[in-house]
Amino acid sequence: MQLELLNMNPEELTEWAKNQGQPAFRSRQLFAWLHKGVPFSGMLNLPKDFRSRLEAECSANPVSVLETVVSRLDGTMKLLYRLGDGNVIEGVLMRYSYGCTLCLSTQVGCRMGCLFCASTLDGCVRGLTAGEMLGQIVCANTLLADEGKGEHVGNIVLMGSGEPLDNYDEVVRFLRILRHPDGLNIGMRSVSLSTCGLVPQMLRFAEEGLPVTLSLSLHAPNDEVRRRIMPVAKRYAMADVLSACRTYIEKTGRRVIIEYALIHGINADVRQASELAHVLRGMQCHVNLIPLNSVPERGLCGVSEREVRAFKEALEAAGISVTRRREMGDDIEGACGQLRRRYIRESEKEAGGGDAGCRRP
Ligand code: SAH
Repeated sequence: MQLELLNMNPEELTEWAKNQGQPAFRSRQLFAWLHKGVPFSGMLNLPKDFRSRLEAECSANPVSVLETVVSRLDGTMKLLYRLGDGNVIEGVLMRYSYGCTLCLSTQVGCRMGCLFCASTLDGCVRGLTAGEMLGQIVCANTLLADEGKGEHVGNIVLMGSGEPLDNYDEVVRFLRILRHPDGLNIGMRSVSLSTCGLVPQMLRFAEEGLPVTLSLSLHAPNDEVRRRIMPVAKRYAMADVLSACRTYIEKTGRRVIIEYALIHGINADVRQASELAHVLRGMQCHVNLIPLNSVPERGLCGVSEREVRAFKEALEAAGISVTRRREMGDDIEGACGQLRRRYIRESEKEAGGGDAGCRRP
């Protein structure tokens, strides 16, 4: 078993290097190289024997890129990664005028069970380590460096597969390492964390001193509709979830983003827009409307352009700040978990497993 160095924070790395007989400044050099994605052989300011030792006993990045798919529409890149234990996860690299944003996975699969989300169809295999989250960024930066346009990942959204607050300790460890000036040096203002609304963890997270943008996947104007599409809503009432958002706003001074995926015949009626405006009144928030990426496995469909517009206008008329999320990578299975599912299905077929899709609920 190789030691995963990217999973260590600077203090842990210093302690480890000390035990290897290396002074503290060596661990600082090593930390910087690891986060730049340089292989051990290229860490030229480290002594040769130390480099050979690292190569034999350690792994520089627990994540490797298995496949990339680039959208012809907007250059959005979907990434399929392999982890050290053979599990496969995915991410999305989006290019905006202000820089590159990487959407990270925080778990292999997800156990939240949202009806419209492909990530959760096979449940959760395990949470990712902080090193596996950092490793996704290091991989994306290496791809960008190879393109030679001087771009690098500047913004992070924890919106890939998994529920970040269901993998609380590793996500918090990840965020603390992420902002370290000798490493990736990405500040909390450049990070969004999206949650389906785990109330106790949201309240705990508000106290961590990590003022990221909190996005709440609300997707419903009331408990009844929310419970139909999100099992987590049976555990936490909407009033408590919104109250946790208010606490987060108070503690961090940051507005919360409310995510609302419009699902035909379920939550997209204009009367539901008025109801939503009513529950959000007075809250420092911004609503992000997401036209649903259809999930045929569950028979859920997106909405027409006309429905999106009507819903948005109803919110605006009620004084709610709202935008429609730009759809990116529409041609490359951009929605959470879709690419990983296709990969797993195809691998199973190749292994003679038949059509795995038929066995799913
Ligand atoms: N578990 C976290 C983050 C991962 S999902 C959460 O629930 O927020 C990131 C966002 O994509 C969430 O808002 C999620 O509800 C949304 N999403 C999932 N499946 C979708 C689909 N088929 N179409 C549109 N949005 C989807």
